[in-house]
Amino acid sequence: MLNDVAQILGEKGPLADQIDQFSVREQQQQMAVAIQASFDQRQDLVVEAGTGTGKTFAYLVPALCSGKKVIISTGTKNLQDQLFKKDIPLVRQALKMPVTCALLKGRSNYLCLHRLKQQQSNLDNLPPKSIMQIQGISSWARQTTTGDVSEHVAIPEGDMLWSRVTSTSENCIGSDCDDFQQCHVMLARREAQSADLVVINHHLLLSDMSLMEDGFGELLPTADVYLIDEAHQLAEIASSFFGVGVSTQQFIELGSDIKKEYLAQINESKEIDQRADAVQKAARDLHLAFGSKAHRSAWNLVSKDKNIIAQITELDDCLTALKNELHPLCERSTEMESCFSRLVVLQEKLQQVSQESTPEHVHWFEVHQRSVSMHLTPLNIADAFQVKKQKKSGAWVFTSATLSVSGGFDYFVQGLGLTDYQSLLLESPFNYSQQALLYLPVGLPEPNNETYTGKVIDKAIEVLKKSEGHAFFLFTSFKALNIARDRLKKELAYPLFVQGEGPRDVILERFRKTPNAVLLGTNSFWEGVDVRGDALTCVIIDKLPFASPNDPVFQARLDALKEQGINPFMFYQLPKAVIMLKQGVGRLIRDASDYGVLMICDPRLKTKSYGKTFLKSLPAMPQSDSIIDIHNLYLRQRGAKVVNE
Ligand code: SF4
Repeated sequence: MLNDVAQILGEKGPLADQIDQFSVREQQQQMAVAIQASFDQRQDLVVEAGTGTGKTFAYLVPALCSGKKVIISTGTKNLQDQLFKKDIPLVRQALKMPVTCALLKGRSNYLCLHRLKQQQSNLDNLPPKSIMQIQGISSWARQTTTGDVSEHVAIPEGDMLWSRVTSTSENCIGSDCDDFQQCHVMLARREAQSADLVVINHHLLLSDMSLMEDGFGELLPTADVYLIDEAHQLAEIASSFFGVGVSTQQFIELGSDIKKEYLAQINESKEIDQRADAVQKAARDLHLAFGSKAHRSAWNLVSKDKNIIAQITELDDCLTALKNELHPLCERSTEMESCFSRLVVLQEKLQQVSQESTPEHVHWFEVHQRSVSMHLTPLNIADAFQVKKQKKSGAWVFTSATLSVSGGFDYFVQGLGLTDYQSLLLESPFNYSQQALLYLPVGLPEPNNETYTGKVIDKAIEVLKKSEGHAFFLFTSFKALNIARDRLKKELAYPLFVQGEGPRDVILERFRKTPNAVLLGTNSFWEGVDVRGDALTCVIIDKLPFASPNDPVFQARLDALKEQGINPFMFYQLPKAVIMLKQGVGRLIRDASDYGVLMICDPRLKTKSYGKTFLKSLPAMPQSDSIIDIHNLYLRQRGAKVVNE
């Protein structure tokens, strides 16, 4: 049996032999060896693998060779699919390992046969478009073996219709369901139980850890090893799972489900209908009390608002009245019992989120077009994460291209409360000193100056003319992005792609295929985007990506840290911004033959002492403040004669 992971990833190994364009990388071998040791010693490991290390193969090889049960968690469902459908089959085939693998997503990703039947028998109440969509889903349902809704591309994954034909832990009736034996959720979980390697995502992992799931069966199987890719996202996602949140929409849906079930199963008096109507009305009135403008704010802004307090009390009273009516009916049907349990849980949550704020939580709300949601988010998830992690004994490996700040892992490990761990920092194998140039333009005002964005755009236009497009222009705010869009449309001759003017993947594909293109993006283009070759030879970043102080939730977090005697800037704001900047910078060099200019406009990199923390955290590369150097870099790449200063 193959067991030397370094050899497997070496020049004479099966991967080099069988995978096109596989290149041997020392860092990849080091990472694989460290992961194998962590498996064997059941020791937690934190690995930062710079761009180009090939971290996916570096963890797949020891995972597939280990003979252990391994769970791999990725940041997004797209990455999950890519790993399961592309990377794992490639490595497994090269290794010729008879390892069984399973893909497991959260239950909202699987068609619920029971709820589909309910919709099919209720078509009269639906608009024509929804009827056609349900018919399309019904015919797909007859063919699919997985029930994974991403297969049915005719309806995008975010479409509201999916919530009618997928389940939640609250509305699933588990083993009482007539379709239990064919249930896609159950089959996917059963497969995961028996597979050697299971690919999940962070939302599912954290949902399991926070025991939010109370349906049937185990949500996740027990494993010997938990491999967390894109681990820099874990603490942020955990804070939403380890907190409490409830939305008025949940009460409205509960009311509808109770009325529907009562009508279908019992239908003896009008009392339940009236009580459920009262809950729905109280939920709508609560939404109205918060106003109609979409925004999010700290709870203390409304905690003394008499109207809001009165509406919360009204909703709570209506829930109690409905609960009292419903309780005697629980024995009459599984569906009614499930509705009753759901009501109890939702009422508890309402009471929790409307209590007085505590120093341990960020207390906030968000008004949407049709609902308001209220939240208690823990300030620090480290202790909770540790307690839950201990229940999943085994080795944990955390990896990402961006975990360290100034070469240290303190921010990351403190965020998750890790104390007993090994760490490894692997620099990118790319030759940044030859492939990249960091351009720090001079003469720009401080970012809070009102002329800042205009002057950044002036400087960016100079560079974009030298690079002839082929650029990402990344912003920290939509406001700056919109100003740039309006000006660049008039002043730049290159094709422009702008975030928001189409789905992200479509914009990216068009950018890749369009010569001399420039893409303007904010948050979602800073990470998880891979454009190789000549299409992208310039990345411009408008500002250091400190989270906006205008976000009241963020502000509440900073205030709470201050109250605990912790310096929020050094402990939270700065490292968070460094990780984000590293993500943005990582877009430029994606391949050993890539080259280009990284332009960071923010003068604070030079004028503030914390600027050094950012610079020390980036790959070492030459710096310049001269546009002539930029010009010459592109001239050299085009084989043209360089200009003299
Ligand atoms: S068991 Fe639950 S998820 Fe599965 S089909 Fe029945 S109700 Fe839907």
